[in-house]
Amino acid sequence: MGTLLGGLLKLQAVERQLAQVRGRKRTRLNIIRVQEGKVELLRKEQDQLHQRILSRRKDSDQLTLDLKTREDHVSKLRTSLNSAKTNKEYAAILTQLNGMKADNAKIEEQALIVMQDAEAVVGEEAKSQERIAQEQARLEEMKKFTSDELARLETMIESLSAQRAEAAKDVPATALTAFERIAGNYDGEGMANIEIRGNKPPYDYVCGGCYMSLNAEHVNALRTRDEIRTCDNCQRILYLKEDGK
Ligand SMILES: [Zn+2]
Repeated sequence: MGTLLGGLLKLQAVERQLAQVRGRKRTRLNIIRVQEGKVELLRKEQDQLHQRILSRRKDSDQLTLDLKTREDHVSKLRTSLNSAKTNKEYAAILTQLNGMKADNAKIEEQALIVMQDAEAVVGEEAKSQERIAQEQARLEEMKKFTSDELARLETMIESLSAQRAEAAKDVPATALTAFERIAGNYDGEGMANIEIRGNKPPYDYVCGGCYMSLNAEHVNALRTRDEIRTCDNCQRILYLKEDGK
């Protein structure tokens, strides 16, 4: 194998490791992010419950205030009832008084329902806070567990990046650009081995990256020339193994 493809192969070996380690780091960070999202969602739910409690309490206060005004009115009606001059007047006040009392009873009932609802939501909020505490604790646990692993992966990334920079020095700029573009799409695998199928000529040639068949022209060229040829399907840079038939 020539220096161009040989250099690229060395680069790919490092690039693949780098992509793998970066993938592991991403996975770890994702797990944390998912848990953070869970905690955040629970906090939003808790906030909604809290707003509901506040709104219910406000409703309850308003109903209590209304009731107080209405009860004052009932007292006044009672006084008027006692000082009624005629039977007709008495009957009219009595009707008004009874109507008011019936309405007040309804309002009282309504106030009770509102208060009960507020209490139920208080219970829900307490449960929600408990869940938040649990999930937050899980998150902290995960972060603690992951921090060592992340630090280890970061060290590996640094070391591999240095190796990668070293390997890239041996590769001409245009070839490096082509490799990086393709490797970026395939987790560091910018190159593909040409697989040779069959026991005797004519052989079939297949791209080791995407397994689509390849024109024999690629193989013939690579046997004699150290150059960049890409798979027509996946665009990976093709190479022949040393023992290629
Ligand atoms: Zn391919």
